[in-house]
Parts: sequence; structure tokens; C-alpha cells
Amino acid sequence: MQVTKTFDLDAGVDCLAFVNTLDDRGGERPTELLHEYADLVAFAVQAETLQEPEARRLTALAFSRPVDAAAVVSEAIILRELLYRIFSAVAAECQPDGADLQALNGELRAALGNVELDRVSDAIEWGWLPGTNLRRPLWPIVQSAAELLTSSEGGRVRECAAHDCEWLFFDESRNRSRRWCNMQTCGNRAKVDRFRARQRGAEIVETA
Ligand SMILES: [Zn+2]
Repeated sequence: MQVTKTFDLDAGVDCLAFVNTLDDRGGERPTELLHEYADLVAFAVQAETLQEPEARRLTALAFSRPVDAAAVVSEAIILRELLYRIFSAVAAECQPDGADLQALNGELRAALGNVELDRVSDAIEWGWLPGTNLRRPLWPIVQSAAELLTSSEGGRVRECAAHDCEWLFFDESRNRSRRWCNMQTCGNRAKVDRFRARQRGAEIVETA
């Protein structure tokens, strides 16, 4: 299968990486990365929550049911914004809104109704009902959100310190000090801004 887009999964947890599919959220012109059903499939394949044969099956199904597929993309964006509100609250060490949590509960009930156990070699593993449900790429994202919210590691959820970025990520650094979604982009940008501010400060001192 041809993957249509490469997503940045640097957030470290699937539900947070999914939130970041609206790029430059805090900027003047946020960039939408979810345009079509194939993007949802591509995200799931990259996150390894969907295997190729099923990805191909869902892509073909979406092709034959374009109206339903477009509706799932709309639902995915609503889910993403719900997850942004919940996890940006967590990152700010605030309680998520009760109504948002209820909405996530609805998503969770819908997703977990499709959980099953699969025999993989000699082991039994959690899996998802294979089949024809176009919402399939969203279920592992919902599960990932519930697991992160109930884990003891919720304190590691961060919002990028660059004011116009607002990417969320999971801080795996030992001393919990990661501030930027990506050191090469936002981290460097902040360094340049600080350098310029210092230069401006120096100019003011010189002209005083
Ligand atoms: Zn950032």
C-alpha cells in the first residue's frame, strides 16, 4: 500500500501524535494534515496500530463508500480536538473538563466494543475486530488516550513551550525537562529568538 503522508510521531504516545496532526495550532495559519480517509489509514499504519492487509481493505472500503469515509474524517477531527482540550489541560496540571471526559467515555465505549483476543504464534494478544468498520483507525487512538489518562505518567504530558506551536508530547527525559516538541525546529527557533532579544538588549544599553 502506498502511504500518502508521513506523520511526525515524535510526541511519543499515539494519542498525542494524533493531536499534532493540526500543525502550528497556535499560529496564525494552522495546517490541517488530515484531509482524507487515506490519511487516517496512513497514520495508523505508521503508528503500527494497523497492519497492511487490513489497511488495504479499509482503503478499498473507503473508496466504495466515500460519504461514510468523509464522515469518519470529520469525526476524527472532532476526536482530535477533544483530545487536545483534555491533554492540554493535563499538561497545564488542570483537571480536564467534565463534558470532555464524558465525550471521551462515549468514544471509549464505542471503541472497546470492538476489542478481541487474537492468537499470535503461541501467545494471546489484545486485538481489534477485523472487518468493515471505517472507524477502525480511531479505536487505538482512543485506547491510547484512556491508558495515558489513567497511567501514573500523566505528569509527563507537555505542551511545546513555543507560543505558536502547541504540539503536545510525552516527556521521557530523566529529569522531566524537555520543553520543545522538537529541538531542531521549536527549540532552535526559541534559541534564535533569545539571541535576538539579547542583541536588542545590548543595543539599547549601547545607545543609552
Ligand atoms: Zn513545538
